[in-house]
Amino acid sequence: MSEPIKIAYLYEDLMNTYGDSGDVKILRYLLENDGYQVQVDNVSLGDNFSDDDYDFIFFGGGQDFEQTIVAQDLQRHQATLRDYIEAGKPMLAICGGYQLLGDYYMTSDGGTIKGLSILPLHTIFKADSRMIGDTKVKTPWGEMTAFENHSGRTYFDDNSNLQPLGEVIEGYGNNPEDKQEGVHYKNTIGSYSHGPILRNENVAKAIKEMIITNYQARTTANKPIENK
Ligand code: GLN
Repeated sequence: MSEPIKIAYLYEDLMNTYGDSGDVKILRYLLENDGYQVQVDNVSLGDNFSDDDYDFIFFGGGQDFEQTIVAQDLQRHQATLRDYIEAGKPMLAICGGYQLLGDYYMTSDGGTIKGLSILPLHTIFKADSRMIGDTKVKTPWGEMTAFENHSGRTYFDDNSNLQPLGEVIEGYGNNPEDKQEGVHYKNTIGSYSHGPILRNENVAKAIKEMIITNYQARTTANKPIENK
């Protein structure tokens, strides 16, 4: 039997707002339709994991309380996640998970949650205006529609050269000023799009292809050399 495609769902039990776990279910469905077997592991508080074992990492959204707990545990995986992302392996991080890839998240009570500092961006909570509602975004794969609900405003650091995932047509995206939504760095995508985002078939298929490419690279590299 062939090796399954392996997905790590970071803190599935804590980071799953507004249907984000649907993203993993959609990917599983599409990959299984293509004939692959799929294994999803919940990597939660205290769990260890190695980036070499996975073809895709998913990190969903969470409210400030959950984010505070997760952020403390997450630091153990900083080097693992940095190496994974820098190697160009695919990852999708939504809302609270996206925020934690950056330097910090300033919370509703004025505290600061330390992020992973993998992507040069930061997020500031603004109590007076929660960004909530339906969104429409122009992405390299065509338009997508989603739902956003966050008070954190995300800004790319000065001179970061980061590219957004797309251009906001309706809604807010990263913040009320830039008209940009999410981030696309190598094969890592950060986004404020719930709904889940992968109900957009164009985006789901693009991510599915990234996963298959990474799976093929991993399983080819691990193949034992045949004795002649
Ligand atoms: N707590 C964060 C915010 O309000 C993220 C919310 C979420 O993940 N849905 O910005």
